Amino acid sequence: MKFGTKAIHAGVDPDPSTGAIMTPIYQTSSYVQDAPGKHKGYEYARSQNPTRDVLQKNLAALENGTHGICFGSGLAALDAVLRLLSPGDELISTNDLYGGSYRLMTKLFAHYGIKFHYIDLNDTKNLKSTINEHTKMIWVETPTNPMLNIIDIKKVCKAVSTKDILVCVDNTFASPYLQNPLDLGADLVLHSATKYLGGHSDVVHGAIVVKNQELADRLYFIQNAAGAIPGPQDCFLVLRGIKTLHVRMQRACENAMAIASYLQKHPKVAHVYYPGFTTHPHHKVAKSQMSGFGAMVSFDLKVNTKASANKILKKTKVFALAESLGGVESLIGHPATMTHASIPKKDRLKVGLTDSLIRLSIGIEDIRDLKNDLASALK
Ligand SMILES: *Cc1c(COP(=O)(O)O)cnc(C)c1O
Repeated sequence: MKFGTKAIHAGVDPDPSTGAIMTPIYQTSSYVQDAPGKHKGYEYARSQNPTRDVLQKNLAALENGTHGICFGSGLAALDAVLRLLSPGDELISTNDLYGGSYRLMTKLFAHYGIKFHYIDLNDTKNLKSTINEHTKMIWVETPTNPMLNIIDIKKVCKAVSTKDILVCVDNTFASPYLQNPLDLGADLVLHSATKYLGGHSDVVHGAIVVKNQELADRLYFIQNAAGAIPGPQDCFLVLRGIKTLHVRMQRACENAMAIASYLQKHPKVAHVYYPGFTTHPHHKVAKSQMSGFGAMVSFDLKVNTKASANKILKKTKVFALAESLGGVESLIGHPATMTHASIPKKDRLKVGLTDSLIRLSIGIEDIRDLKNDLASALK
């Protein structure tokens, strides 16, 4: 099956009791047994839920994996992945990581004796020299937020292929429509389904997809034992969102390219960060590992002050000033004071995250309205 067909049909069968074409929301905590221990595969809803099962199968198919494991948020999913590690283990990640992931690693898991390294994962020499006998996991995020750097997944997998190290990829920014890390050699994929998978800014949800039974069993055990599960209504919303993922992503990418090109020619704009440009430093890698360049665009202003950014952030009418991304509606944000405020200014500036950097999550509205909105705000 091709992607658009899988998005709608994979794992989804008519409800056996009624024929309902849409997967019902099984809003139940328990299931009646015929005799002690004799049941239909469902005992208690932390352990199993039919709505969640369908979503897990669907996600596994979208990422070309064997098993999906769902959680109450993207960070709950990361929490489960980090529980695969033991005290003394080391993890290597990118120096351009989602703030919430960085916080979970450094503020919670570091206390349990796990050591974290943050490096430029595209620097293979540095990656190889950071790996030692305690290294158990590489945590990749690509494209990165908000600078939209691209990490070469195949190259990272190749650098660690001779060792017993799990390569995990946070695929939230690309979505499975644009990028399938398991096909590139990764062992595990994570999504904040809050973003493109849900797609309508109405649910917080997370998921992991793996491609082997042993890893799946360990993660199902953690899902049940720690209990950070999503509710059935949230699973339903993500399932419904996924049915239009391919169509939404096509339009959002198309809009993003048009907006990025428009901004690049604008006299008040100093720089546009978009991997779809041939001038982007990682364009070739993006082209080889993604089927499109995504719908996130960041840009910097010639007058590079917070005040000049603020003027634009306050003036847009179609672009809403808000955190998050990946919904049908376009959002505008100021990383320095919003998503990345916890990073010291000195460190922000090192990666190009200035006080005048603006991040856009491009939605699927009419492109003329999006352009006009930015044009009048930039005036
Ligand atoms: C939002 C996000 C997360 C965290 O997901 P939640 O659903 O908010 O817990 C993780 N990684 C990336 C790249 C994100 O954008």
